[in-house]
Amino acid sequence: MHKAVVIGTGPSGLTAAIYLARANLEPLVIEGPQPGGQLTITTDVENFPGFPDGIMGPELMDNMRKQAERFGAKFMTGWVNKIDHTNRPFKLSLEGSEEIEAESVIISTGASAKLLGIPGETENMGRGVSACATCDGFFFRGKKVIVIGGGDSAMEEANFLTKFATDVKIVHRRNELRASKIMQDYARKNEKVSWGLDKTPIEVVAGEHGVTGLKVKDNESGQEEIIETDGIFVAIGHRPNTDFLNGILETDDVGYIQVKPGTTQTNVEGIFACGDVQDKIYRQAITAAGSGCMAALDAEKFLEGNVVHDWSQSIGS
Ligand code: NAP
Repeated sequence: MHKAVVIGTGPSGLTAAIYLARANLEPLVIEGPQPGGQLTITTDVENFPGFPDGIMGPELMDNMRKQAERFGAKFMTGWVNKIDHTNRPFKLSLEGSEEIEAESVIISTGASAKLLGIPGETENMGRGVSACATCDGFFFRGKKVIVIGGGDSAMEEANFLTKFATDVKIVHRRNELRASKIMQDYARKNEKVSWGLDKTPIEVVAGEHGVTGLKVKDNESGQEEIIETDGIFVAIGHRPNTDFLNGILETDDVGYIQVKPGTTQTNVEGIFACGDVQDKIYRQAITAAGSGCMAALDAEKFLEGNVVHDWSQSIGS
């Protein structure tokens, strides 16, 4: 039986593993289909403190993993498809391997950016296609970019990208935007933002050096055209990776795990959640890592038989 099992190996899971291992709790870390999480699909990470010259996403994740291993964290590859939470120890069922028992579980399975599923999209990730303006916007200084989507994320990313790009075109599949009025207004008032409404993206066009255009179909005329661009930011929403939980934890209507305010404690005592799987607001590597640290400390307290502190109870008291 394991004292602590961490599911997921993005910045939150690996930070949790480092803290648990340093507390001699010998965590078992289960790596899913995308070891290292979303940072492994970005190139340079320039906003993670401590790296003045930036660091490549995969290298950062590799370093975190080595750090966890140095203190005794054990890793296995697997896909958890069920957690029996009705009794402790918890029982984790994995596809194709034996059941794992755990006194505490940290869920750090992250969220995945939704993609369009059009030709050229995944092939050109990191070659001009991105799903994260905060991560990659800087590389488009003085260039032309397209943001795809009509929600708040698309408006926010478009506005953010105008700090770097000369022209930011928002391409949306309908004439109407889903974004809140205030976010639409910000985008509409921004002189660097142009619009490609009622256009369905059908293909990412790329050459030897990366993206050169986006092929779209005008929904009214049926005409196809290629909009020239240096970069394409897909901003059509995220999906937390919580399907495998089969509803055992409280989530919001999109599927983000709900934690007690100021903690990483879920509605099941002894199961904690950190990183993007419970955060739809900040979604940064550094905030994920911070919540991973919190989850490890919360699990440690729980294993010692102490109640996990609820900071919200302290406010004003
Ligand atoms: P969202 O509200 O679900 O919007 C997704 C957008 O992408 C929609 O316009 C949708 O088009 C489009 N889309 C979805 N699938 C598509 C596809 N296959 N092809 C083309 N377009 C597609 O997602 P979000 O913008 O990420 O926002 C998620 C939540 O976070 C919202 O509650 C939002 O308010 C919140 N948020 C808030 C802020 C803020 O306040 N600062 C910033 C970001 C996000 P349709 O409209 O046609 O469905």
